[in-house]
Amino acid sequence: MPEGPSILLMKEVLQPFAGARITNARGNAKIDMGVLKGKKLIEIKTFGKQTFLVLDTVSVRIHLLMFGSYSVNEQTKPDKSLRLALFFKTGAMYFYTCAIRLVENAFLETIDWKADVLGSDWDAGHARKKLKQLPDMMVCDALLEQDVFSGVGNIIKNEVLFRIGVQPESLVGSLPSTKLNAVITEARNYSFEFLEWKRAFVLKQHWLVHTKRICPKCGAQLVKKYTGKTKRRSFYCTTDQRLYN
Ligand SMILES: [Zn+2]
Repeated sequence: MPEGPSILLMKEVLQPFAGARITNARGNAKIDMGVLKGKKLIEIKTFGKQTFLVLDTVSVRIHLLMFGSYSVNEQTKPDKSLRLALFFKTGAMYFYTCAIRLVENAFLETIDWKADVLGSDWDAGHARKKLKQLPDMMVCDALLEQDVFSGVGNIIKNEVLFRIGVQPESLVGSLPSTKLNAVITEARNYSFEFLEWKRAFVLKQHWLVHTKRICPKCGAQLVKKYTGKTKRRSFYCTTDQRLYN
């Protein structure tokens, strides 16, 4: 699943179309394509894994889900995968195998922008308060809570927990204050590093534990386990990552 940084990169690719008018729209998404034609793309906003193409009174919300993708100027996948194509005088954008919805712009005002780990409104104190209300949740699940850490996905989860030395099944309420703060700080730091590595096509070579077998610190075998309520793959070292429960 594309994580927040990948969505931010998509925004950068789409950005040249901001301010341009949509000349045509097609695709098999279950939305009224007629609404889009003639509308100006005012701006592109992202919130975690969601992208909003903001038009006059409505926005197109795009969520790439597990296998979604996009291209610009050239259709790279067959029509059956094409959920939405937007055409402009200068080119086109294509979205495949993803969820597309039209939302009223008023919806954007209901979003808690402070929860976007890559956003300019990110508020660590706000995240801390929300975590305090989830004492019984495993930290592996908490990092994937999009209401708290919008944009964090499974890779970021695994790498952050290794970096701060916390075992994924630790309970949020049992973490010492310094570790709780580290979860919050590193969720954002790592997301920005992810962004730069992804931009330079060197993301995977920076993974320390995600999909790995051997701990880069102590050389022991890493544990691979589907942890928490989210049952997403965790990779961790029982020596270097402490369980707080
Ligand atoms: Zn280790």
